[in-house]
Amino acid sequence: MNAIPRGDSLTTNSHITVSDVTKVFSGRKGRVQALQNIDLDIRRGEFVSVLGPSGCGKSTLMMLISGLLPMSSGAITVEGKKIKGPNPDVGIVFQRDVLLEWRSALQNIMIQAEIRGDNMAQAKARARELLRMVSLQDFEDAYPKELSGGMRQRVSICRALLHKPKLMLMDEPFGALDAMTRDQLQIDLMKICRDNDMTVLFITHSISEAIFLSDRVVVMSPRPGRIEKIVDIDLPRPRRLAVREDPRFAEYARDLTDIFKGLGVFREE
Ligand code: ADP
Ligand code: MG
Repeated sequence: MNAIPRGDSLTTNSHITVSDVTKVFSGRKGRVQALQNIDLDIRRGEFVSVLGPSGCGKSTLMMLISGLLPMSSGAITVEGKKIKGPNPDVGIVFQRDVLLEWRSALQNIMIQAEIRGDNMAQAKARARELLRMVSLQDFEDAYPKELSGGMRQRVSICRALLHKPKLMLMDEPFGALDAMTRDQLQIDLMKICRDNDMTVLFITHSISEAIFLSDRVVVMSPRPGRIEKIVDIDLPRPRRLAVREDPRFAEYARDLTDIFKGLGVFREE
């Protein structure tokens, strides 16, 4: 007889739960309330963007979820476990690629396995597979200075993926790239998510990037950072670049722009 799981059926699908989280920084210039009463539930396999202007607490939220920064009050659980310190299971990608200049692309990816004490031969095979996935198979011996910005960021993404994380936290990973490289990496990222069954929390200040990539967009308002609204993006997947011409895409962009106008982030005369 099959046992029917009970009781936790509502929570098993939840990957990240942020409950009433507040973050206050105390610095030389006094206290800064970076986040106020944040509640957010992210389902397994979901792609969620956090969208908001500079300084609204996006990076702070990501750092709290990664466990790299302690919260002031509230609670965060990842896979049902309360976050109390750095969580080694997540993959993290920052805006700057933080590659080590004296290591080749492959060696940069392998850092992840060295730190974790993983099987080196297996990790190297996976690193090469990841490089192939992002079309960098011919660059494993190249040093960061020999790579373009987009290629460097691809290497960072491979490094974050080496240990097959089920959760990726990405803080404006394409923010410093030119528009065309950014388009290609967005497409690559969606394929990686599909193939690896990942949950992604993606931070951006680009309205169109958030719509293109996400299942849901969390709109944040500045000072103190609060969740203003959560918008479901009901566009079919897999998404192609042409989806940006879809009238519904324009409608989402208009709605999100209006929210920021209402918040005083955009001012038109
Ligand atoms: P965002 O990523 O949305 O641009 P951040 O999360 O970096 O915003 O910052 C949110 C607010 O918290 C800002 O006002 C910022 O100045 C402040 N802040 C961030 N980190 C620190 C810190 N380590 N010490 C003091 N204030 C900080
Ligand atoms: Mg930031």
